[in-house]
Amino acid sequence: MIAEFISVGTEILLGNIVNTNANYLAVKCAQLGISNYYQVSVGDNEDRLSNTLKLALSRSDIIILTGGLGPTKDDLTKEVTAKVLQRSLIEDSHSKERIQEYFKDRKLDSIPENNWKQALIIESSLVIDNHNGTAPGLIVEMNESEDDSGLKNTYNNKVIILLPGPPNELIPMFENDIIPFLRKLQPGILYSEMVKICGIGESKAEIMVKDLIEKQTNPTIATYAKNGEVHIRITAAADSEGSGKSLVKPMVDELKRRFADAIYTTDENENLEDIVVSMLAKHHIMLTTAESCTGGLIAGRIVNVPGASAVLGEGFITYSNEAKQKYLKVSPQTLMRYGAVSRETAAEMAQGAAASSGSKASLAVTGIAGPDGGTEEKPVGLVYIGCTVNEKLHIKEYRLKGNRQKIRDLTVIYALDLLRNAILEQYGR
Ligand code: ATP
Ligand code: MG
Repeated sequence: MIAEFISVGTEILLGNIVNTNANYLAVKCAQLGISNYYQVSVGDNEDRLSNTLKLALSRSDIIILTGGLGPTKDDLTKEVTAKVLQRSLIEDSHSKERIQEYFKDRKLDSIPENNWKQALIIESSLVIDNHNGTAPGLIVEMNESEDDSGLKNTYNNKVIILLPGPPNELIPMFENDIIPFLRKLQPGILYSEMVKICGIGESKAEIMVKDLIEKQTNPTIATYAKNGEVHIRITAAADSEGSGKSLVKPMVDELKRRFADAIYTTDENENLEDIVVSMLAKHHIMLTTAESCTGGLIAGRIVNVPGASAVLGEGFITYSNEAKQKYLKVSPQTLMRYGAVSRETAAEMAQGAAASSGSKASLAVTGIAGPDGGTEEKPVGLVYIGCTVNEKLHIKEYRLKGNRQKIRDLTVIYALDLLRNAILEQYGR
């Protein structure tokens, strides 16, 4: 089953509102196992809406239109849909009563004349009550008999769903009425899990799963590059969550074999700092950070995690050479001979941070984030990350690409990953 969304409203085209409805519907359809190939936005214009709907009917099975069900003249979704489907608009007494109640409940005595337009429904459609507004939703199932010639038959078996634009009206209607309807139309779900990898580049990761992607059927796998990380989503079409899980498991196990410790989690909701904090906490390790080019971003990421106080006592931002000497006891000779951005300085920063705080682990970064300050020998993007765990020192050199923001963000990810691997080496999982 292929769904297509048509978001109606000139406001969307002008950029006055963000099309969150399409995003919401996309997430829901994916969960329901309904494919979504097209999302179209169209203004409040009869001809263009009519053409958009006809095109959608030619290529999709379920068309969900949102917006334009209101009482005003520019709200024309229902009128245009009726015309395209060659069905008439009829008054629905139930909807009329609901509009009366809606106004009575809100102690509004006069009902504006044009609100009655909302009691009109498309002939032979299913009315979906709107508990948060006056415009009902409609489901039109096109099941014309064979003897009908012409246009009607070309739309046979298509389903057209009309929903109001305001999300606080649309979402409850979708959750309460449309989802159960769609479930009947297409039984089954899509179940997915995410494998998150750090320390292996996207193209290498893709090569490592190329054979799995080529012979994929159910489940399918897809890789996404995400700021220094690679995420692999494994998705199975199944009739229940249980069978989805068992379809996905062999693929996840295979990925675990291939990527081993580069996988930091298989939990979609967990990120790198969550893992680092939980490893530190599990092994009772206190961390001290010493940051130059990241200026506190690493400590900030750690503190994002609830419970960070158990693992982070202090952090230094040592941007200048003076600060590196003063707080971390980096020697002036080292700075002079090798420079602030060097393997040697990173090592002394990491060791100095651990020594000054007495913590078991330290993480230090020094690098050139740009846009200025690069030389041929030391270009923008050159970063050294140092880490100690129980005095064992790890130093890594990185040559990162991107603007200042990107280089700093990548540095944070690689620093957290270096620490994760250093802990893994000594303590295991
Ligand atoms: P109303 O009865 O309020 O006129 P309607 O069904 O006619 O509702 P529109 O007039 O198209 O819907 O939009 C009304 C409001 O709903 C918009 O101003 C906007 O706040 C919200 N809205 C409409 N479409 C979307 C969308 N695609 N995504 C997010 N919000 C939307
Ligand atoms: Mg409107």
